[in-house]
Amino acid sequence: MTTSTTAHAARLAAAATATADAGIDALLLTSGADLRYLTGYAALPLERLTCLVVPATGDPVLIVPRLEHAAAIASGAGEAVKIESHEETDDAFRMVARLIADAVGRPAGTIGLADRMWAEQVLRFRDAMPQAEQVLAGVVTRRLRVRKRSDEVDALRRAGQAIDRVHQRMGEWLRPGRTEAEVGRDIADAIIAEGHETVNFVIVGSGPNGASPHHQLSERVIEQGDPVVVDIGGAMPDGYCSDCTRTYLAGGKAPSEFADYYTVLHEAQLASCASVRPGVSAESVDAAARDVIAAAGYGELFIHRTGHGIGLEEHEDPYIVSGNDTILEPGMCFSIEPGIYSPGHHGARIEDIVVVTDDGVERLDTIDRDLVVLDG
Ligand code: ZN
Ligand code: ZN
Ligand code: ZN
Repeated sequence: MTTSTTAHAARLAAAATATADAGIDALLLTSGADLRYLTGYAALPLERLTCLVVPATGDPVLIVPRLEHAAAIASGAGEAVKIESHEETDDAFRMVARLIADAVGRPAGTIGLADRMWAEQVLRFRDAMPQAEQVLAGVVTRRLRVRKRSDEVDALRRAGQAIDRVHQRMGEWLRPGRTEAEVGRDIADAIIAEGHETVNFVIVGSGPNGASPHHQLSERVIEQGDPVVVDIGGAMPDGYCSDCTRTYLAGGKAPSEFADYYTVLHEAQLASCASVRPGVSAESVDAAARDVIAAAGYGELFIHRTGHGIGLEEHEDPYIVSGNDTILEPGMCFSIEPGIYSPGHHGARIEDIVVVTDDGVERLDTIDRDLVVLDG
């Protein structure tokens, strides 16, 4: 199921209104999540310019290199915006400058550039529009994307179910005697087999490697009795991402210190999830997990924020972190992933994606959160 043309048209209209409200003459969105959100086009990140121009007034136009024209049409973007192609010898940056001037009736005063636009494109836009102040398009698009509508929540739910199915098959691969890299390759295959289009990351942190939150894969051989942190995610064909962590025990008996803090971590993750509802702040959801962990004496070992928003990007607003007083609203989707890391020994993390509902919270990852003992 894909987002309908009317949904893209409505998003484009909302973006233009928000652009005008922000005092910006046009958004310039190169390949990335904003472009995909507004048009459905998952453009390749190329050195040739692909750019959606969303003027505050007038019609949006998608500028593409001529050789990408067919791909842009195939994406369905042409149903929501006019597509114009540029030749190899055209100056696409000047084309954009002219388009904005035509739409707003004068040279651009302020332009909003995609947050992750390449510096070489930023500087070429500066050359093409030296008079224009450059600001981040995210000030406009972030607010549109942070509240997911029901079709987006459905897409994230499907992504969650797909990654949950991979976790449920972990016993097929995760065994003492295999390396993290071997297990990781099997997991990556399963991420695709269970419905994702791309594998975004595979973390298999066994034993001491589990104490490094973003450890990926190594040649370490998993040993009997190792705690193993498995954090995996991918993107579905519609672009929406999954991200789920479970901690496993590779047979045998858990080290006693580990068993103690896993119980605390589990309690913290439950408390944080239970605290989510409209009207509370993002930082209060972080505190709900952190307070439990600190009270048990492990505060120093919880070395990262509790979570991040998720959607067409793995990490986006809202960030669940101390200092973020953003008030949660229905439709906001984010991870709740407290962890406890004992350097040199082992670590544990439990991560679910949740969505704020009208009166509380729904988990989009629904598999059990207990320590999973795999007896291969
Ligand atoms: Zn992460
Ligand atoms: Zn994760
Ligand atoms: Zn995450």
